Amino acid sequence: MKTHLVEIFSSVQGEGPYVGIRQIFVRFAGCNLHCAYCDTDYKFYPSFRVEDEPGTGIFSHRANPVDVETTVEIIKSFNIGKNHSISLTGGEPLLQTGFINRLIGLLKDTGLKFYLETNGTLPDELSGLISQIDIISMDIKLPSAAGNREMWDIHREFLRIASRKKVFVKVVVTGETSESEIIKVCEIIKSVHSMVPLVIQPVSAHRGYTGKSPSLAKLMKMQELALDFVPDVRVIPQTHKILGLM
Ligand code: SF4
Repeated sequence: MKTHLVEIFSSVQGEGPYVGIRQIFVRFAGCNLHCAYCDTDYKFYPSFRVEDEPGTGIFSHRANPVDVETTVEIIKSFNIGKNHSISLTGGEPLLQTGFINRLIGLLKDTGLKFYLETNGTLPDELSGLISQIDIISMDIKLPSAAGNREMWDIHREFLRIASRKKVFVKVVVTGETSESEIIKVCEIIKSVHSMVPLVIQPVSAHRGYTGKSPSLAKLMKMQELALDFVPDVRVIPQTHKILGLM
């Protein structure tokens, strides 16, 4: 069984409530969405990169598509005992559930946790993988920020399945984000399990992104509003960008 990867590297988690933990990141190629603020390279390339030493920015290249056994070998070549978990990220990793199921099966003996970073739009695919995953970082895409169509019902269904495991919801917000969108997200969380944490993540400026960042006052207001509906609401930026890490 083979897949296309973009990269494998060891770094610290930069987003959400697990910020700062050490992880091995496996980034899969391909995504089913095209978010306006996307800053991730998830294209299909003839090769993928593996960072030789964490934080150095020096990479080796390996051929795509890659088989599960080679991926396991690369992951095991990192100092895996020092890591909290393996982050399955993308792109959208749930487009590769067959590969991931096999990958997790071959890595179970490491004792590492499996952390899924997903756009929260593929509930059927999550159903087939949920028993293998420990932690889910799930996006709810706001039309004002991501530029996608409304997907509230799909996100609700996804969260319902994800809530069988540790899960938090992340929303990327911009200067255009409306109060009604924040309320909608909170209603979805409340309808599934009100104790699911909500992370409000201000959009990060980057080359090619032309949208507006939210003001600090707007971020505070969004948090206050959300706290009327759900008890655990955190404002957390992308910290790995502050550190200059991958
Ligand atoms: S879901 Fe994530 S990877 Fe896919 S386009 Fe949106 S931001 Fe980029």
